[in-house]
Amino acid sequence: MEPVDSITWDVIVIGGGHAGCEAAAAAVRFGARTLLLTHRHATIGEMSCNPAIGGLGKGHLVREIDAMDGVMGRVADAAGIQFRVLNRSKGPAVRGPRAQADRRLYREAMQAILGAQPGLTVHEAGAEDLILDDRAARPTVAGVVTDKGEHLRARSVVITTGTFLRGLIHIGERRIAAGRVGEAPAVGLAETLGRLGFALGRLKTGTPPRLDGRTIDWSGLDRQPGDVPPVPFSWMTDAITTPQVDCHITETTPAVHAIIRANLHRAPMYSGQIESTGPRYCPSIEDKVVRFAQRERHQIFLEPEGLDDPTIYPNGISTSLPEEVQREILKLIPGLERAELFRPGYAIEYDYVDPRELRHSLETRRVDGLYLAGQINGTTGYEEAAAQGLMAGLNAARAAGQSEPLVLDRATAYIGVLIDDLVSRGTSEPYRMFTSRAEYRLTLRADNADQRLTPVGIDAGCVGPERAGMFHVKQDALARARADIASRDLTPQQARHHGLSVNLDGVRRSAAELLRYPDIGFDDLVRVWPDLGAIRADIREQLEIDAVYAGYLDRQQADILAFRKDESLRLPDDLDYGRIAGLSNEVREKLQRARPATLGQAARIPGITPAAVNLVLLHVRGGKATARPA
Ligand code: FAD
Repeated sequence: MEPVDSITWDVIVIGGGHAGCEAAAAAVRFGARTLLLTHRHATIGEMSCNPAIGGLGKGHLVREIDAMDGVMGRVADAAGIQFRVLNRSKGPAVRGPRAQADRRLYREAMQAILGAQPGLTVHEAGAEDLILDDRAARPTVAGVVTDKGEHLRARSVVITTGTFLRGLIHIGERRIAAGRVGEAPAVGLAETLGRLGFALGRLKTGTPPRLDGRTIDWSGLDRQPGDVPPVPFSWMTDAITTPQVDCHITETTPAVHAIIRANLHRAPMYSGQIESTGPRYCPSIEDKVVRFAQRERHQIFLEPEGLDDPTIYPNGISTSLPEEVQREILKLIPGLERAELFRPGYAIEYDYVDPRELRHSLETRRVDGLYLAGQINGTTGYEEAAAQGLMAGLNAARAAGQSEPLVLDRATAYIGVLIDDLVSRGTSEPYRMFTSRAEYRLTLRADNADQRLTPVGIDAGCVGPERAGMFHVKQDALARARADIASRDLTPQQARHHGLSVNLDGVRRSAAELLRYPDIGFDDLVRVWPDLGAIRADIREQLEIDAVYAGYLDRQQADILAFRKDESLRLPDDLDYGRIAGLSNEVREKLQRARPATLGQAARIPGITPAAVNLVLLHVRGGKATARPA
């Protein structure tokens, strides 16, 4: 093996977390000679917080990553010990696949999948600085300097350092410089980014104490079983074979809330020790007690961290109160009265880069060839990190190979929504994905992510032959089944004869049309036409869901066309907003700073009015355009 510093790498990925793993895997799938540079091989794929993947909005991201042949879905399927589809009672568009994972199995599966990627080298070292080529007006990245003094050269570099940039842990009054518990923070790289002029901010997140499950009294607690059978994330997984376990539910009590209130002055968030903003949708228990003062109880999900591991993650009581207060609180929670603490909860503050520093490709505007992905961009969550990692790794590899970047728009993928939100609007609090962030939810479903994105991934060069082959087989089966159900029909009299209790208004209907009726499912069609029973279960489900949405999707398609029209109007990189008559100074400054790539993106910048967008449009079209309706 050649020494790592004798090679010019196509791509160096800094960080072996969720963004880094996905970035490295995407870069090698594209064919790039890739180095994954991370502190410790053993922590590759580490889940810093709760061992769970997916959920509402996040499950969509996992399916999209999988559709592009990313690794997260397959790893979660190998490590999942409880699978549940959330929101099952609601429409398929907002259902969220989620899995509780065995933390060790997750790490091992991730390390195994990366180890099997030809063209990927893992190197243990900390990145301290970047090597830059300063000859042009804007610097270009040329490599990385490590804490071992190595100078590693690369055409593109992806930074995915998560919560490590100047990380500072808080437990009550105690402060510990760390990127994660027991791991040193990244200071050198934070200084490099500051020196290069990147706008940096500070955010905060937290984690609950970890409990010894053998000391919990499970007898009076509500059991929460998983789905039977478990539904995998990946289109490549036939069935889940890892043993499945239950979670349990308990709750806080008024006495717990009283202790928290009495100790608020010792909570870093309230004592003024932490000033940065935490995740609004994943608040600490002290936050919940203050913000929802009228609530007497909050649910706590007791989630096992592994099959051979007694550790329990009490989801819902993230806290940075002093350790002795955490112990007092536990004694007052049903089932946890005698629970032993493996590790106290803590909060962590870290630097992030204002994501408006990025292009839609996730390349920075300040340094060519430098890409950022994951928590460093102000997001929270494994799935958000992995989604960005996939795109940054792919685009870094594409740039190293002189190819144009791949950008997914808001009507194609949640990944597109995520990146567009970050790049156009920035974020002042940890950003997490929700289905409500997407305008075209009915189109962007978890069930059809493969149909939306696998062809895009095949064209972009990040989908391997095995997945591409499976996808084509499925597409053929789907097309045949669609044609089949469109070609059979029934008269109202025949429908009645088969016991279908629907009003067909005297009209003959095809099987495809019948499926659109709320009371008719594929099983009903099979009763009428038994040979349809030969159609694969996943194809039947897809046909059912497509039928439910058919009418709405036609309408959504019109909205998507209007959206794409604005997206297709590209704004020149050097557009001088100072020369556009009629724009206020404030709007000019905003546009100048954001430098939107398209008219659509300009319209999504907070504070940019429809009138201002029209002025930009008229200017770009030389005054000849018909104004866009405001
Ligand atoms: P990470 O997973 O943090 O990975 C960073 C990687 O970079 C690590 O492998 C590290 O070793 C490596 N690294 C760092 N600096 C260097 C360097 N200079 N050189 C080489 N390698 C480097 N998310 C939620 O959704 N909900 C939560 O409640 C939640 N709570 C959290 C609580 C805590 C205490 C922490 C730490 C995180 C929490 N998260 C939570 C966030 C979740 O863990 C992250 O969003 C996710 O792990 C981010 O992935 P990432 O790849 O960006 O970074």
